Amino acid sequence: MTRFIFITGGVVSSLGKGLASAALGALLQARGFKVRLRKLDPYINVDPGTMSPYQHGEVYVTDDGAETDLDLGHYERFTGVSSRQSDNITTGRIYSEVIAKERRGDYLGATIQVIPHVTDAIKEFVLSNLDDEDFILCEIGGTVGDIEGLPFLEAIRQLGNELGRERVMYLHLTLLPFIPTSGEVKTKPTQHSVKELLSVGIQADVLLCRADREIPESERRKISLFCNVRQEAVIPALDVDTIYRVPISYHEGGLDDQVCRHFGIEAPAPNLGGWRDIVERASQPEGEVSIAVVGKYTGLIDAYKSLAEALAHGGIANNVRVNMSWIDAEIFEREDAVQHLERVNGILVPGGFGERGSEGKVAAVSFARQRRVPYFGICFGMQMAVVEAARNLAGIDDAGSTEFGPTPDPVVGLMTEWTRDGQVEQRAEDDDKGGTMRLGAYECLVSANSQVRQIYDSEVISERHRHRYEVNMNYESQLAKAGMIFSGKSPDGALPEIMEYPDHPWFIGVQFHPELKSKPFNPHPLFTSFIRAAVEQSRLV
Ligand code: GLN
Repeated sequence: MTRFIFITGGVVSSLGKGLASAALGALLQARGFKVRLRKLDPYINVDPGTMSPYQHGEVYVTDDGAETDLDLGHYERFTGVSSRQSDNITTGRIYSEVIAKERRGDYLGATIQVIPHVTDAIKEFVLSNLDDEDFILCEIGGTVGDIEGLPFLEAIRQLGNELGRERVMYLHLTLLPFIPTSGEVKTKPTQHSVKELLSVGIQADVLLCRADREIPESERRKISLFCNVRQEAVIPALDVDTIYRVPISYHEGGLDDQVCRHFGIEAPAPNLGGWRDIVERASQPEGEVSIAVVGKYTGLIDAYKSLAEALAHGGIANNVRVNMSWIDAEIFEREDAVQHLERVNGILVPGGFGERGSEGKVAAVSFARQRRVPYFGICFGMQMAVVEAARNLAGIDDAGSTEFGPTPDPVVGLMTEWTRDGQVEQRAEDDDKGGTMRLGAYECLVSANSQVRQIYDSEVISERHRHRYEVNMNYESQLAKAGMIFSGKSPDGALPEIMEYPDHPWFIGVQFHPELKSKPFNPHPLFTSFIRAAVEQSRLV
């Protein structure tokens, strides 16, 4: 029997609801349950694919090609369960479906209303595509009280009745702010937020209370009394030194016990050995390396969430701390790269869109190539490495990407047709922007005797994509003469997927996003290898 845990947030945004949901998923998994996590996003975009990274942070791509909320990245990293298109829904998608049904005449003349038609569509989504899970954890985006969130709260309220309270639990994440002048953590905002939830008919079963210090027993009692929640179900969620400690800390606060108690199920205590080991390794590194990430959205680290995590995983695998400096690529268009990059042990140019900052990225690539500093180019970072090689090594002075406009030598260009599992997929220049990139998992064949072959130790790999432009195969021989090889290609040989310089200590560009698949328990081999190369480089300086 599948049970549902609905997770809402109150008081303020950015409380780490995604991480809290992921950590609870990991805890239940550690008690032997099968879990899946889902996110219901109340915004009106059909998906976050068209949103600026500054608005929404990273767009997380699933194997099946969905552009989703970055919280799905937390879910995958904490539980290892691959997310699917059906694990993230937005108001935009719900309404598109409802309106399409109305146009088809499926509602047989009814007046279409938020209740029941929109709420029915939400419930259908929550209950769809199940796979014998013991628990579905459904996080509702935003904060209780947001106008956009109302239909979602109404839908999960109805589900509580329809499925029965023995199959549904409501978990509410709140904040207990500390007021220095009175020297107290305050419970009033939590009381208001629980009341707000109650006003739409949902009584919270468990409260997870974020606080930056211990919550006195007297305050837990007060919250219990005013919020109508058992005292043991008022669980502290204190700030921790590393995110990997969150499942352990929630367990110590009794969260998983309260979930089992709510549903009346017995389960063995969780095995948290793996998490304790990761915490130990992350908090007691034997050394450190510094990595410069040269990007465009460096003002908001959430824009590179999975990347930062994957670099940290590479550090854990090598027992070192990875100090990341986030550098705005445009700096290199005004200042010499040397002063910013001289002391780093590795340079990474991540994914990106548009011309702004691209010349700065090319300058960072030149520095890494000439100074023999480990270089990792991801998606746009591979494309800029190819542009740099074409211009500076192959003598193709005007080499560029058609992403920035027409160019006489398009070493990176728009692909209008490619194959996936034997099927032809097509795109046109004037297609809609939403959902039309090359998205999701594609296979890649890795050449024998290449550095990446050693790293992956496999001939066929599968990695996730999210891009519109491709490196142009017509320049392969000119680039090869200049020393750059395409060591990974699509199975039909038409698309370069990986490039490397065999005579550089570590210079690899990939057209896909390996950071999306890295996990603390299973760091991505490219990140492990890149950080190892950075460790070696640090011994040289
Ligand atoms: N802007 C490039 C493209 O669309 C790269 C995208 C990316 O880095 N994710 O191909």
